Parts: sequence; structure tokens; C-alpha cells
Amino acid sequence: MKNEEDGVMEHIYDTIIIGGGPAGLSAGLYASRSRMDTLIIERAKFGGQATTTDELDNYPGSIEGCTGTSLSKRMKKQAEDFGTQFVKEEVVEVELQGDIKTIQCKKETYKAKTIIIATGAYPRLGGFKNEIELRGKGVSYCATCDADFFTDLDIAVFGGGDSAISEAIYLAKFGETVTVIHRRDELRAAKSLQEKAFKNPKIKFVWDSIIQEAKGDEILEGLVLKNVKTGELSDLRVDGCFVFVGYLPISDLFKGMITMSERGDIITDEEMRTNIPGVYAAGDIRVKLLRQVITAAADGAIAATHAEHYIEDKFN
Ligand code: NAP
Repeated sequence: MKNEEDGVMEHIYDTIIIGGGPAGLSAGLYASRSRMDTLIIERAKFGGQATTTDELDNYPGSIEGCTGTSLSKRMKKQAEDFGTQFVKEEVVEVELQGDIKTIQCKKETYKAKTIIIATGAYPRLGGFKNEIELRGKGVSYCATCDADFFTDLDIAVFGGGDSAISEAIYLAKFGETVTVIHRRDELRAAKSLQEKAFKNPKIKFVWDSIIQEAKGDEILEGLVLKNVKTGELSDLRVDGCFVFVGYLPISDLFKGMITMSERGDIITDEEMRTNIPGVYAAGDIRVKLLRQVITAAADGAIAATHAEHYIEDKFN
């Protein structure tokens, strides 16, 4: 749809999806299949966090060598084939009230009748001394990006959830040893992942412990661990330290406009509606129990379908 303002024709999309991970790409697929004029804005990498996962064996049909990157590429192509448009831009400001929403990016301004927020989440810091200083110098948050640097070397993994354990299994293909440091004596990760990790002779566990400090000036030389039960400190010599202690929502842009949890996750109903009419949220940005590619994709499909119904009711 074109809108004439001050004699200038401006393009108004049916929906603009902010974020090009599985939630955004799936929303794009469903929206463009319904013949909605659809734009996805992504500031970094299409595929989002999924592209940092090597083995993606829990998305139905993703078998035999399916990686987060290969699945994301197929998702993007499928959405594109149905007419979804894409731009690589960073959103700096949004105006979500009213019938026509405005998305201000660094270079251009875009307008739409509906917005689907699929901005996802970013890795939480481990919170130990020297972590920031040694980031990229031995401390990493992405195994698929950095594993290769630690071939035949000693690696630590901090955390006990699905990310930590699946990435520890992946890192064991590269490293000489992988030591998982977890703050409790029981893992949070899915049982199937736990079984794989316990069976892997390269993977060891340090229980009831956190990382207190990363040692090294120019490059990581080792870690100081603290046993949270006894307070005892110990040294662990490692060349690489991968931190997987959870993720935080990327929602700063929407603070004060959209209803969120204390952590900043967007609250939606089952139709992915936020508190603002015509604004939806999908994927890891949302308050939800299960954060997986499959649930992100489902959210995106639901959000796009309800955005279409909203436009039909409101504008037709
Ligand atoms: P998560 O499930 O929130 O687990 C975070 C882990 O870090 C937990 O073991 C937690 O310990 C630990 N932790 C949190 N804060 C800490 C701190 N300050 N100091 C030390 N340890 C801390 O996060 P995730 O593993 O990144 O997973 C995020 C979401 O993505 C989950 O929904 C997960 O199921 C999903 N995911 C799924 C897959 C898969 O299915 N293959 C892969 C990756 C991620 P406690 O256990 O003691 O709380």
C-alpha cells in the first residue's frame, strides 16, 4: 500500500518483522504466503542464534548433517520464494501506537500496519573477573564460531543447560579435554544430552562450582574456580573458556511501550499479541517455557496469521 503525505508517496508494508532468526523467518514465510507485503529487518546474521548451533537434531525433519546455518538458509530462501523482502539494517527507534507503525533504522525509515517483534536474545555474561578483557582472547560465547581455534587444546564450558551441554559435546570434537563447570551437582540439560556427555571420555565435570576469575593478560591462561558449597578455590589450566549461562531478551527498544517481565521478556497472549494493537512478538523475546527453534518457528507462524486477521478486520 502507498500512502500519500505531503505529496510524497511512501510505502506501507502489511507487516514488518524485526529480527531474522527462526521466529522472524517463519513469520515471513507465513505472512508472504498469505500475500501480505512483508519486510524482515535484521541487523546481523539471518538465522540468529540458530546459526551458532552445529548439530540441530531436535527440529522435526532436520536429520543427517542439518546444522543451524543450513536450516536457516533454507528458511530464508523459502520465505524469499514467497515474496518476503529483506533488509540488513539496525532499528534505532520505533513508534508503535496508531494504525500505521514507524520503524526508524540507521539509514531508512519504514512503515507498516503491523509489526512482529522477533529480536531474540543474547548470551548472558558469566560474571567472573577478567571476562570482558579476555573476550575473544580465549573467552567465547559461540562454539561454532570459535571451536576450531582450540583444536587439541584444553577447553572449559561454563553452565549446565542445553546450550552448555550440547556445545560441550561439539567442542569435544576439537579439544583435547572439555571441562564442564556447573554451579550445582545436577545438570539442567535434556537427559539425552546428559547421557551423550557422560559417555564422552573427553568431557569431565566440576560440580558445585563457578568461575571466579579468568587468568592471563593477552590471552586466556587458566581459570580460578570457586566451590560454592565449601568456598574452596582451585586453578584449572585451560586455553579456551566457553560461557553458556543462559540468554537475555533483546528488548531495550521497546521498554516503556510494551508490557514485559522484569527480565525484559515481552508478554503476549496465545495469538502472540502484545498490549499494543497490531504489534506481535515471537520467539525467544517472549515470556515462554520452551525456547527452541521449533517453538520460535511456531510463534512466528501464529503471529503472522493473526497479523493478517488484524489487517483484514481493521483495514478492509
Ligand atoms: P538455560 O536453560 O537458562 O541454562 C543456563 C545454565 O546456566 C543453567 O545450568 C544455569 O544453572 C546456569 N547459570 C545461569 N546463571 C548462572 C550464573 N550466574 N552462574 C553460573 N551458572 C549460571 O540456558 P541455555 O542452556 O542457554 O538454554 C536457553 C534456552 O534455549 C532453553 O530453553 C534451552 O532449552 C534452549 N536450548 C535448547 C537446545 C536444544 O534443544 N538442543 C540447545 C540450546 C538451547 P542452573 O541449572 O543451576 O540454573
